[in-house]
Amino acid sequence: MDIKGKRIYETLKKMNYIRLSTTEGEKDGAKVITDEIKSIGLEPSFEEFKVPCYEIVNVKLEITAPKYMLIEAKGYGYSGNGAKDGIEADFAYIESAEDIDLIGVEGKIVMVSSLGYEVYERLAKAKVAGFIAPSGDYFDNPKNTDLDERMLRKGHIDYGQIPGVCIRMKDAVKILKTEPEKARITLEQKEEEGDSGNILAQIKGTKYPEEVIVYTAHYDSVVFSKGMYDNASGSAMLLELLRYFKQNPPLRTVRFIWCGSEERGLFGSKNYVKSHEEELKDIKLCINVDLAGPVIGRDTAIVIAEDKLCHMIEYMYKEIGHPMSLRHDIYSSDCIPFADKGIPAVNFVRYGAPGAISCHSRNDVLEPISAKSLESTTRFIAQFSNRIVNAYMFPVERTIPEELVGKIDKYLRKKQLKAD
Ligand SMILES: [Zn+2]
Repeated sequence: MDIKGKRIYETLKKMNYIRLSTTEGEKDGAKVITDEIKSIGLEPSFEEFKVPCYEIVNVKLEITAPKYMLIEAKGYGYSGNGAKDGIEADFAYIESAEDIDLIGVEGKIVMVSSLGYEVYERLAKAKVAGFIAPSGDYFDNPKNTDLDERMLRKGHIDYGQIPGVCIRMKDAVKILKTEPEKARITLEQKEEEGDSGNILAQIKGTKYPEEVIVYTAHYDSVVFSKGMYDNASGSAMLLELLRYFKQNPPLRTVRFIWCGSEERGLFGSKNYVKSHEEELKDIKLCINVDLAGPVIGRDTAIVIAEDKLCHMIEYMYKEIGHPMSLRHDIYSSDCIPFADKGIPAVNFVRYGAPGAISCHSRNDVLEPISAKSLESTTRFIAQFSNRIVNAYMFPVERTIPEELVGKIDKYLRKKQLKAD
């Protein structure tokens, strides 16, 4: 089997820079993939789409009473310009955004311990004037860690924009120790849309061209991160699989999609299923790769399909001697929009052991990744693909268990989460 870890690793090196959604870095990443597809002897196509992006013009967090403190802060993208000229208000700390925490918070600037959709919704309904959210670890050294940059998503903004800032955990603790009474948030930003896109390549099946197996991997990274583990690794592995199928023509059609702007909210895969609605009925399975390559880690298959597929993978890894974990669950990645349309999916992930690799930070770098790890996972996916793509009869039923459908609906916030 001509699968070469060294070749995958070389592609990783070519993508060793920040590839944040809508930026030049993301475009450069797309160019690497496009060039590689051409070098394999195939014709890539590019499907462009728009993604919300923002630019913080001015941000400031001050504690104004009882003691003045100026705190390092980053503004939440898409939290509006309601604090453009600065808003000063009474300060409140909200432990968990339960009803009991929200009494009397109207018009106040609140600090939360963490900010999910539900907490945000509750803050909006309680009419707070602004929010402060801590990020990172208390023991982070500011010299070698970045203060996170975050943005509100559609699921938040549906409840209205509240000006918000993100601060270091250490500062959050420091502020609360002074028993703050008043705070001032100043936040001005430009909210706009930028360009992103998916790269596609396809090899037609020799026997069943109308039956399609889709391979997905996102090539964008988060701010500060070169995203070698998340997910230049998966992007480069897909190129190797494409090369493999070019040399070994498949019975069914294999379609490869390198998705842009996954980190901003699965924009690439959402855009694909939206603009190819008619063709979705032909897609039999989505194989997604997101997180791969750590030297110390464990391969895991996360299956969004009938449980027979779990058993098949389990028997297969035992048969070929490739240790693996299995989960019958959803996975926060580009498989979701496909599964949401009823297309079964399997995710191949190599989770790093705790401390063995980092993601979503400046420490997501090449060093803890090896060509050997990349190769062994890719070989497994190729062997799995051989059995599925070239099966005499396509074995995976087009069905997703109710429990997983429920999890997907919840993940996509299709309905209010009141039920649980
Ligand atoms: Zn990822």
